[in-house]
Amino acid sequence: MDETADIIIIGGGVMGTSTALHLAEQGVGEVLLLEKSSLGAGSSGKSGAILRQHYSHEVSVRMARTSLQFYENFQARYDREIGFCQPGMLFIANEAQREALERNVELQRSLGVDTQILDAAALRAAEPHARFADDALGAWEPEAAYVNPVKTVHGLAAAAQEAGATIRTGIGAAEVLRDGGAVRGVRTDGDTKIRADVVVNTAGPWAGQILDQLGLDYPLQVVRPEQAFFEPPADVEERPTMYADLLNGVYWKPEQSDWVRVGKLAFDDDEEVTNPDHYDEGVSNDFVSFAHSALTDRLPAFEHAVSWGGCGALYTVTPDSHPLVGAVPEVEGLYLASGFSGHGFKLAPAVGRGLTGLITETDPAPFDPDFLAVDRLRHDRPVTVPYSYSILG
Ligand SMILES: Cc1cc2nc3c(=O)[nH]c(=O)nc-3n(C[C@H](O)[C@H](O)[C@H](O)COP(=O)(O)OP(=O)(O)OC[C@H]3O[C@@H](n4cnc5c(N)ncnc54)[C@H](O)[C@@H]3O)c2cc1C
Repeated sequence: MDETADIIIIGGGVMGTSTALHLAEQGVGEVLLLEKSSLGAGSSGKSGAILRQHYSHEVSVRMARTSLQFYENFQARYDREIGFCQPGMLFIANEAQREALERNVELQRSLGVDTQILDAAALRAAEPHARFADDALGAWEPEAAYVNPVKTVHGLAAAAQEAGATIRTGIGAAEVLRDGGAVRGVRTDGDTKIRADVVVNTAGPWAGQILDQLGLDYPLQVVRPEQAFFEPPADVEERPTMYADLLNGVYWKPEQSDWVRVGKLAFDDDEEVTNPDHYDEGVSNDFVSFAHSALTDRLPAFEHAVSWGGCGALYTVTPDSHPLVGAVPEVEGLYLASGFSGHGFKLAPAVGRGLTGLITETDPAPFDPDFLAVDRLRHDRPVTVPYSYSILG
């Protein structure tokens, strides 16, 4: 071997950098993160980076809550600005979904989340510029926030380096080295062999390729969601809050500029991407017009918004729309965190802490290794959700 490290992390997105930070803070020895391109070059850089706690399972709510608090305190703790904004989020449904909405809001409240159900009259009073049918029903979460994803990934990486981790960009892991059933390190694309007894695969849309090379079969698929951006007319004064509009099938959020980003809640019809190094980063006219009509259906003032087009991006998805996180049972020392199915940014601090707990045999809470176990689907233990949009978790 040419070099050694204690732990090698593959991928410098939000999962890899968060894991590097949590491991380095734990003082576990030499932590080396390899990023083949640049930090945030995968899904993370283009993320909406919405941080909400509206989930249907206790573990997810706890992970989202701990992570929200981590992001909120990041600047005070690490002295780096990550664009934390807290406009709140509305989840719009109707009477047909009352049971699921109420059950989830009750669960979240029992775990300390500030959230409440609003009927149509309360929705109209809270959002006078929006349109709601008489049977509309909402869940309002005032603590929901978002961050700037690029600043956040760079902030996590810088904090990890200050805690002692090494981060190398422009260097890819070409091969995970194994000796029978155990990890032995990584061979880089520059043909350097780095010895390590622990390798963490946080390669996002590329994570499946790394597993394939090892002959491991995990249900990770890459799809291409589209996003559209609109700038409201100058006479629209209200900065819209964030919405997950279950009735129109879209979410939207303000960007750091005056733009509003619109994305779809479902990814079932998104095009599959077989090579994440070469995918269509453009947006179709059909998507822009679908996004515009869904937005104006709810917020009529956006009828005359300027359309800025949009982009194609990458989600790594699993059959139950929940990530695979934890030890890979076939290869000792190999860990995986991928398949976040369009809702991982908000969970990354808890994932970094959870992986650190698993690797160092300390408490991984609020992460629960069984709930997100990498082999749960093989054992027929999918995570189920009460919404038709499983991205909501
Ligand atoms: C358009 C969009 C909107 C989203 N909105 C939200 C949201 O509002 N809220 C939310 O919580 N989540 C959201 N998500 C999901 C969230 O952004 C992702 O779950 C998260 O960013 C995944 O991070 P990651 O670190 O796993 O992967 P990535 O960010 O893709 O990072 C993987 C990295 O690994 C590197 N890499 C790959 N192969 C190798 C190799 N062999 N060697 C070295 N490096 C390698 C890549 O270059 C890449 O930088 C959104 C995602 C997208 C695309």
